Amino acid sequence: MVKIRFLGGCREIGASSILIQSEETGNNLLLDYGIRLQGNGNILPLSVDGIEISAIALTHCHIDHSGNLPSLYKNRQIPLFTNELTFRIIEVLIRDTLKISKFKIKYSNQELNKMGISCYFLEYGTRQRIENNFYITLKDAGHVPGSCSILVEVDGKKILYTGDINTQKTRLVNSIDVHDFPELDALIIESTYALRDHRPRDEIEKEFIENVNIIVEDKGRVLVPAFGVARSQEVLSVLYHYGYRGSLFLDGMARKISEIYFDYAEFLRNPREFRRAINNATFILNSRLKRDRKIAKTTPGIIISPSGMLQGGPARNYARSIVLEKNSAIYSVGYQVENTAGRILLDDNLFFKSKNDPNGIDAVCDIKNFDFSSHAGSLDLLKFVDNLKFNEDSEKNIFCIHGSAESCTTFAKNLNRKGYSAISPEIGDVFTI
Ligand SMILES: [Zn+2]
Ligand SMILES: [Zn+2]
Repeated sequence: MVKIRFLGGCREIGASSILIQSEETGNNLLLDYGIRLQGNGNILPLSVDGIEISAIALTHCHIDHSGNLPSLYKNRQIPLFTNELTFRIIEVLIRDTLKISKFKIKYSNQELNKMGISCYFLEYGTRQRIENNFYITLKDAGHVPGSCSILVEVDGKKILYTGDINTQKTRLVNSIDVHDFPELDALIIESTYALRDHRPRDEIEKEFIENVNIIVEDKGRVLVPAFGVARSQEVLSVLYHYGYRGSLFLDGMARKISEIYFDYAEFLRNPREFRRAINNATFILNSRLKRDRKIAKTTPGIIISPSGMLQGGPARNYARSIVLEKNSAIYSVGYQVENTAGRILLDDNLFFKSKNDPNGIDAVCDIKNFDFSSHAGSLDLLKFVDNLKFNEDSEKNIFCIHGSAESCTTFAKNLNRKGYSAISPEIGDVFTI
């Protein structure tokens, strides 16, 4: 028998963490240990103080999965299994998170360094022993470069934790391969888009390119506010793939992450094309920031820069002038959360220069959103589950997590109609399978 304890990431996106315990040996495996990025309440998953943990396995770099990992390295040394690219990215993301005082993080760079010493890099498909009768295998999840789903084998049971997954391939990464998994006893699956479908990726890519080309041909500028990890590089790759060779500037954290991807291009769908796409972009240099940004602000072409929802980062500065230009555009490429600057711009054509700006600026530039999501949509998720094989003697247990309460519960309901035993657990729930 195996115990599954949910520590966070239930009926929410944030603080993802699950503890898997062997009832035969008492050994514990921790899957992810993230923080909450939204809301003003508790940002941490449930504590694992006093619990002896044999190993940690990390699905991917995003802070909602990785952000609280260093806190576990205060007084202990626990082997952390992930891949090298994921570790290189979390180093950047966590150091950045530490700088943002708003996140009340209970660790420092010292613990992050200690974590690095305990880190073991696994290749996709390698079966790694944790303890007696306890194994993990990392599989490509198709979400962002380096992302994994984790197959856990414990006490004779096979449990798949999907992490975040994408079943449509993107320019940057291949999709998850549903045929890559053995017969399962239980599944823990993300539910981010369980209520919504995405349009086919190539349609969105073509529409994006058409719009960009119209603006640039008219000597306008296109600001693409994009998350620095994966989304910025996805946009770079799309532009290159469809033959865009005009001015293209890259700013903010997207630069550092692009350099790391360049060095670990074997994790990408098309390493050669990616390297060419990077070489096609002009990096805004820190050594001549003012000058480079001035050039970017006055040259017809494209600027890709975080933050993805215009909440901060260099993108905000670029937006200030672009909103006033009729022949320019702001094209966001990710979901815009309610009440963010990006969402207000999209819904109301308004851009607020600062918190003290009472009325905001009426944007005259073109404003559009392109759904370059890195998560499976609603039908994709159902199809993914249908294509998985379950052990005939199992109860086909499925745990729907990582989504709004409505997403998780609806997904579970839909799966139950198809004959599975699905549930959307709450934080602190423990199940035995
Ligand atoms: Zn993610
Ligand atoms: Zn996530």
